[in-house]
Amino acid sequence: MPSDIRVRIAPSPTGPLHIGTARTALFNYLFARHTGGTFVLRLEDTDVARSTAAFEKDILDALHWLGITWDEGPGVAGLEEAGPYAPYRQMQRLGSYAEAAEALLAKDLAYRCYCTPEELEADRRAREAAKLPPAYSGRCAHLTPDERAAREAEGRRGAIRFRVRPGVVGWNDLIRDRVEIDTANLGGDFVIVRADGTPLYHFTVVVDDAAMQISHVIRGEDHVSNTPKHILLFEALGYGIPTFGHVPLILNPDGTKMSKRKSQTAVSDYIAQGFTREALVNYLAFLGWSPGTEDDLLTLDEIAQRFELDKVQKGGARFDRERLEWLNGQWIRRLDDADLVARLLPFTEAAAVAGQIDRAPSEGELTALLPIVRERLSTLASITDVAGFLWRELTPDPAALVPKRWDAATTIEGLAAAGERLAAHDAVTWEADELEPPLRRLVEARGWKAGDLFMAIRMAVTGQAATPPLFDVLVALGRERTLARLDAAVEALRSA
Ligand code: GLU
Repeated sequence: MPSDIRVRIAPSPTGPLHIGTARTALFNYLFARHTGGTFVLRLEDTDVARSTAAFEKDILDALHWLGITWDEGPGVAGLEEAGPYAPYRQMQRLGSYAEAAEALLAKDLAYRCYCTPEELEADRRAREAAKLPPAYSGRCAHLTPDERAAREAEGRRGAIRFRVRPGVVGWNDLIRDRVEIDTANLGGDFVIVRADGTPLYHFTVVVDDAAMQISHVIRGEDHVSNTPKHILLFEALGYGIPTFGHVPLILNPDGTKMSKRKSQTAVSDYIAQGFTREALVNYLAFLGWSPGTEDDLLTLDEIAQRFELDKVQKGGARFDRERLEWLNGQWIRRLDDADLVARLLPFTEAAAVAGQIDRAPSEGELTALLPIVRERLSTLASITDVAGFLWRELTPDPAALVPKRWDAATTIEGLAAAGERLAAHDAVTWEADELEPPLRRLVEARGWKAGDLFMAIRMAVTGQAATPPLFDVLVALGRERTLARLDAAVEALRSA
């Protein structure tokens, strides 16, 4: 059912899509889809020095990749931009901010401030020395027309400051319930337009949320302290005040704030590491929200059906990479063969280009391999950890070939004997259930432990201790390569 609910995500293209922004976008998307509302994407690109077209593309591409679609804004349905409130880029909306600023000046709800950076810096220091929180002194709050004219005559171009009224600003937050903040704690009258005419975030966000008829502002908890300023501006401009919901932040496992420096925060990095969109979306939705049932694995559509904003928890949600990998593994198991192979191919190709493997497997090879690797993949990229030995030449490492309970002589004997038994098979009987019994008989005849011989063979033919089941591995490698690798291992041990 269509509704009047309108929500938005308003990313600043000053960096790649952040995992926290993706989660906020997701919650907005889910809320819109669940309620039949409209989801808007607006680019807050007024920080011209730091905004780039490349970051803008990264943000839109990564959101699309996640399957998070919006109804209005840049990049809707492959168009440059679509929606009744265009343009959706703030740098193309400067006229509306100038107009709104003029309206506030005209009503004396804002004023020109001519304080120089030096004056403001001296104020800041004085307050710091007096152990007071930073706040504007109010130096320009009540200038007479003559005083103003005198400053303008000096060539000063005033910034525009918004008058913060005394009192308490409160709202009923969708997630945090009632929040009240005394405006005395807002740091005094704040700048909404710089002296050079560029408008600031607090101002543009309000002008645009009003212009775009945003009914619910759902954003990160880091904005709680900004919301009173926004409410004051909505009031002063005579706009209706939207409903606010502040989503808890994503935290590091140790409870600290996720930062670019300390944590992996770019969605593109998770994509590059082989996380699936299904798992990432599922994981991000469950960071701070739960369907209230035992279900772990839900698709985006299933989540949208169940999503309730007031069920979002208040406390910060800790990012648990192991859990994400587990979930990713679960989703990888659910993909159908063709889909999984299509998603694996770019990773094996990239691994070949990076020299991690000597050649990239074909589609057919990967498909044939799925039954033995699928359950072992935690990421798409982990295909080369699990099966890279198939596409790489091995250089035997004599020290690594010898199982713990064996010595070099026993290992040589074991590998040579295993080689002989296996060589008795031709290409037709080179099947896992045919290869295993003769090796078990060999172990019994010599009084060895199967684990020791099998580990020696595994190390010899794969170079690694953890692999898919050994006999499946031998089949995947094929007769010639298996025998050659066993020979090479024996050779390496003999000459060590
Ligand atoms: N451009 C702001 C940001 O990226 C938007 C915040 C908001 O949603 O109001 O944080």
